[in-house]
Amino acid sequence: MLVIRGATVYPGSGPPRQVDVGVADGKIAAVGGELSGDVVEADGLWLCPGFIDVHAHSALRSYEEPLLTEALSQGVTTQVICPDGLAPAPVAAGRWAERRDYLRALEGPGPEEWPWTTFAEYLDDLDATRPVISLVPSIGHGAVRDTVIGGERRPATREELEEMRREVRAGFEAGATSLSFGLVYFPGAHADTEELVAVAEVAAAFGAPLVPHVRNEGAGLLEAIDEMLEVSRRSGAALHVSHLKSLAEESLIEPLLERLEAADGVTFDQYPYGAGCTLLASLLPAWAQEDGAAATLARLRDPDALARIAHDVEHGLPAWENVLGTLGPERIVADGESIADRGGEPVETVAELLLESELGVQMIMHYASEAAVRKIAAHPLMLLGSDGIFGAKPHPRVAGSAARFLGRFCLREDLLAPEEAIARLTARAADRFGLADRGRIEVGKRADLVLLDPATYVDTATYESPLSLAEGVAGGWVAGERAWAESRPTGARAGGVAR
Ligand SMILES: [Zn+2]
Repeated sequence: MLVIRGATVYPGSGPPRQVDVGVADGKIAAVGGELSGDVVEADGLWLCPGFIDVHAHSALRSYEEPLLTEALSQGVTTQVICPDGLAPAPVAAGRWAERRDYLRALEGPGPEEWPWTTFAEYLDDLDATRPVISLVPSIGHGAVRDTVIGGERRPATREELEEMRREVRAGFEAGATSLSFGLVYFPGAHADTEELVAVAEVAAAFGAPLVPHVRNEGAGLLEAIDEMLEVSRRSGAALHVSHLKSLAEESLIEPLLERLEAADGVTFDQYPYGAGCTLLASLLPAWAQEDGAAATLARLRDPDALARIAHDVEHGLPAWENVLGTLGPERIVADGESIADRGGEPVETVAELLLESELGVQMIMHYASEAAVRKIAAHPLMLLGSDGIFGAKPHPRVAGSAARFLGRFCLREDLLAPEEAIARLTARAADRFGLADRGRIEVGKRADLVLLDPATYVDTATYESPLSLAEGVAGGWVAGERAWAESRPTGARAGGVAR
């Protein structure tokens, strides 16, 4: 038996205790009592269940880097993947290259050729990469719509709705524990509310939550939240809102939180930063992204289409969040330089970047004050979702979110109590995403554990040095195997796809 001795144990829910913890056969074998075995001395350190990041763009990362060091270094041992309705599967035969081109800036390219079509085949293939941590899949509505309908901007027929429901069911049968939506991404954004209800009913039958990137995080935020509250109510599925924020007015945050509190059983996640990150292509209106990546690129080469995009950015369109028009080119950064600093007409500059990269470029958009970020982080319904996107110059949230939330907001700034912050990173996240085998230090649970030094645990990633790893994690175990020691991965890869 492995014995972790002398640590202050935060069990995931409930107050900390000074007890020894024993691990055997990948599980927690003992909590408290006289334990003997291979001892890890942990005086002065905190032992917690491994952290659960409920929103991560790691669907294909493990093909490049199965050690997922940015996550593991923060004590994260489980990530929920395929958020925002976006996923590498299911995918219609012959459409995988198109899907890859659209997803690449968020998820990376994956293997040279995608050998899967079904969700189950993809999960088997991903599992074979042997990721160091556990990856918990969502079934993505956008991926399902693309498989059944393709990129067309139109309502689904009755037959297509039935087929989409079958695909969602197959996703849950393959191991998904939530249904994600990306109602600003394509083709997910083409869905009407009736379609969302139809697929949400399948999630309800599996007792799984709906996890939406809502249709509008700008001026239309409250209406967009109301749509998902309606979908949740009508379908009977619980609601967990992804990366809660207000891109436009901070005055919307108060009524937003009130709405979520008033609804039954709603939760949300947040990455603890005042800037977001997504596809640069998300600056384009829906009509310009119709019919997939190749059609989008063709429009960007057409001067008439560019003029129409510039007009729409200036004047807006009904219900469109219009990030470029809302934030302005000064606050949108691609590859380390703002759209404004790059010079030229903003829409033309964006088009050039998209054409050069064949849509494969991210943007970081600065929208919120630090006070607004903390107001959401302090809320008891908040869970931690890094929204981590890998890349050469990514958003620092990929390497900093958990450590920023617990190490900075909680331990250094006293924004909330450690017991509360740790519960959100562990037991409460497990409960929300149906992960009964983890998230608590209790006998019989999976031995996913993080040992941290509360005096030094903190994020160091910044916009300038986004890949700078968190400090203060003294040890990490995944299914009882030591995966993190002496500030680096040990090479153990006991994670995999959790099903
Ligand atoms: Zn999102």
